[in-house]
Amino acid sequence: MDAKELNEVIARAVVAQATWRSLTAGERAARLQAWQSKMIEHTDALAEVVTLEQGKPINEARGEAVYAAGFIEWFAQEARRAYGDTIPSHRSDIRLSTIKQPIGVVAAITPWNFPLAMIARKAGAALAAGCACIVKPAEQTPLSAVALQRLALEVGIPGDILPIATGDAVELGSVLTNDDRVRKISFTGSTEVGGLIYAQSAPTLKKLSLELGGNAPFIVFSDADIDRALDAAMFAKFRNAGQTCVCANRFFVQAEIYDEFSKKLARRVEQLVVGDGIREEVQIGPLIDQAAFSNVASKVNEAVAEGAQILTGGGPHACGGLFFQPTVVVDAPASSRLAREEIFGPVAALVKFSEEEEVVDMANASEFGLASYILTENIRRAVRVSEALECGMVGINTGAISTEVAPFGGIKHSGLGREGGWQGLDEYLEVKMIATGI
Ligand code: NAP
Repeated sequence: MDAKELNEVIARAVVAQATWRSLTAGERAARLQAWQSKMIEHTDALAEVVTLEQGKPINEARGEAVYAAGFIEWFAQEARRAYGDTIPSHRSDIRLSTIKQPIGVVAAITPWNFPLAMIARKAGAALAAGCACIVKPAEQTPLSAVALQRLALEVGIPGDILPIATGDAVELGSVLTNDDRVRKISFTGSTEVGGLIYAQSAPTLKKLSLELGGNAPFIVFSDADIDRALDAAMFAKFRNAGQTCVCANRFFVQAEIYDEFSKKLARRVEQLVVGDGIREEVQIGPLIDQAAFSNVASKVNEAVAEGAQILTGGGPHACGGLFFQPTVVVDAPASSRLAREEIFGPVAALVKFSEEEEVVDMANASEFGLASYILTENIRRAVRVSEALECGMVGINTGAISTEVAPFGGIKHSGLGREGGWQGLDEYLEVKMIATGI
């Protein structure tokens, strides 16, 4: 699709949205619920598309299809609860109320790492609110988007309400950000491109949701249940070969258990099955592209040159191509890129700490603030640290924090706005205040 075609798509979306918003919330909810049922019915087919174009293991891809369907179901239900307020008035001759109305035509620009779920949690909320949603998927994973749209068409969600725009990102991004008819952009991806979209959207004063990079600290205190901490670490680090924005990225382990934890983690990591994701037993697939592979490899190599030690893995996997060995690194210098930057690969880098205050400062010494993880059996410490961490989400004694029923999002350079939860619907609604003289 080029700029001219996208302009036509926007024009048709404007017309279609006028009809879509006039449906009752219940009518929109019924279509979304039917879409969710189709997604569940076709879980295996959707998963196969994801694994073939993105590379994640088929079991994870099935999980993603169900997770994506969960967002559609959640927002189908939330559509019927977009309540306004009745406000005690400031004058006896005026009545005050608010209503919530759809923001209009919106655009969802999505990444490759969750090619179904990142679309579902934007489009589900947008359609539930009464918006039209133009989806611009990542160039690596357009077919997952098309598969989702195909199922939506089958249940009577019009193509002009959920169009897919594939093409040159810079060209299409420029149209979407500059066009006044597009009233909101919801973007998930890198902080760099998020900042660009923020700037490009300024002249048309669009509402924005930006779900950007993360650099999650994973803090293991000496009073943690070690087996639980290892389970959480494996899930939070190695899902999707480490290519999730909420992946544990900086492991801080208290001195007393540092050796025990790192050895046990290395033992678990050695057992991960690497290979073609379409095989049921595989747990780690390839990285998304050569740039991603080079990024991970260079960070590991630099850290080793600066004194880090590899406990397991450390380089290209015998499978060849874009497969990187699941890796555990200890004692990466605080100054190394491995210890400071988002890794986005199957590499756990461990750093030792002594005191609670010290580790909170280390965790907060990042421009990002998406997810954080705390492993401790001490309830008072868990409360103290979860409140002190600068981030949008905290997992206490768990690595699994993402769900459609709770708000997902970050602070600082990790972005603006929340997806999922009741908050996710509000991102696609405007509040109108009505003052009525009597
Ligand atoms: P990316 O390069 O920013 O791409 C994301 C999307 O933006 C793609 O659809 C891409 O299209 C598009 N894009 C690129 N340049 C654009 C432009 N100038 N105007 C408009 N759109 C443009 O990000 P990525 O490398 O694919 O994803 C990895 C990053 O996403 C990581 O930092 C990760 O932490 C973050 N992420 C965050 C979340 C979250 O919820 N916070 C979730 C997942 C990932 P093309 O593919 O066609 O270039």
